[in-house]
Amino acid sequence: MEKILVSGCLMGQRVRYDGRDKLRDDELLNRWRAEGRLVSCCPEVGGGLPVPRRPAEITGAGGGPAVLDGTARVLTDTGEDVTDAFLLGAHRALETARQANARLAVLKESSPSCGSTRIYDGAFTGHLSPGTGVTTALLERHGIRVFSETALSEAAAYLHRLETAHPTP
Ligand code: SF4
Repeated sequence: MEKILVSGCLMGQRVRYDGRDKLRDDELLNRWRAEGRLVSCCPEVGGGLPVPRRPAEITGAGGGPAVLDGTARVLTDTGEDVTDAFLLGAHRALETARQANARLAVLKESSPSCGSTRIYDGAFTGHLSPGTGVTTALLERHGIRVFSETALSEAAAYLHRLETAHPTP
C-alpha cells in the first residue's frame, strides 16, 4: 500500500512553534489514516528544536531550495540562526519517507519547513510569497511529490496514478 508522509501538526500533534496543532479534519485524510497510509513527522522537532519555540522564517531569496544550496538562511524572529536544525529535520523527514517507501507527502502550507506553494517572506510581517519550505524542497529534489493540506483532491489523484501506473512492489 502506498504510504503518505504527513505533517505531524495536521495529525493533531502539538508540535507547532506555539505549542499548538493544526488538526485537519478532512474526509480524505481520515480515510488515509484509517487505511494505515499516513506516516507523520515534524521536521522542526526532528531537527532538535523545542516546543514551543521562536517563530522562524527563511531570509534571502529562493526559499527552501536556496537554504539547501547554502544561499539563504533560516532565522528566528530574534535573529537566531536555526538553519542547521531545519536542514537536519529535512534530512530526517526524507529518511522517514524513504523507510516507508512514501512517494508523496501532505505537508502544512506556509511553514518554513513544510510549505509547498507559499511561505512567509522573511520579514516577520505576516506576508506570504511564492516558495517552498526546506523539507518540501529536499523531498521534491528526491522525487517525492508534496501537496498542501488545501490540495488533498490533487494528492488523491496523484496517489491513484501511482497505485495504478507504478504500484509499490
Ligand atoms: Fe507542522 Fe511542519 Fe511546522 Fe512541524 S515543521 S509544526 S509538521 S508545519
